[in-house]
Amino acid sequence: MKFRRLKLSGFKSFVEPAELRIEPGLTGVVGPNGCGKSNLLEAIRWVMGEGSPKSLRGGGMEDVIFAGTEARPARDFAEVSLLIERSREEAGEDAGETEVTRRIERGAGSAYRINGRDVRAKDVALLFADAATGAHSPALVSQGKIGQVIAAKPTERRKMLEEAAGIAGLHQRRKDAEQKLRAAESNLERLDHLLGEQA
Ligand code: ATP
Repeated sequence: MKFRRLKLSGFKSFVEPAELRIEPGLTGVVGPNGCGKSNLLEAIRWVMGEGSPKSLRGGGMEDVIFAGTEARPARDFAEVSLLIERSREEAGEDAGETEVTRRIERGAGSAYRINGRDVRAKDVALLFADAATGAHSPALVSQGKIGQVIAAKPTERRKMLEEAAGIAGLHQRRKDAEQKLRAAESNLERLDHLLGEQA
């Protein structure tokens, strides 16, 4: 999976709509302190489904919305779109460019779209997990990340390796399958019970 373009509007310090092309290869972000370098990386993690406000340096999810300054009023929403490109091996007939969008409105929560179509958070998580990337991907190296890897507990390190190996999506699918199985078993029990009553 390749990242092609990032679009932000109302996300943290990016109050005006901004668009960044992401070129092939390793990307580094440079700039003076406080100019928004970390906010860019957080925007990528957020659109990929990051669910923890703490790991986005906020107290609540709505903290990603531009909070206003002395000169500018706060915004009511934040939106981030990430244009990705997937190969045939990764996506089969869905190969090519795909745009993933996440939007949050004050008091209304988050919503996701893939190519303009409303989808669930789970669909976005699976799309990235299958490509061995995601909000916690080791491919996104933020400040302090190296130290975190060194200090991580074995279980946390295992999660990082699973994410890098692209099997995180399989865990989610297994959980879904187990849930369906339990629902089917309980339906069968109810059916047995009803048949027993009629006999
Ligand atoms: P450093 O090099 O010091 O780590 P940086 O370039 O990574 O800085 P960021 O931490 O990405 O900078 O950006 C910090 C800026 O973003 C601060 O000026 C902060 O006020 C602003 N900011 C963060 N959240 C919001 C928000 N919700 N609304 C408005 N501005 C915000």
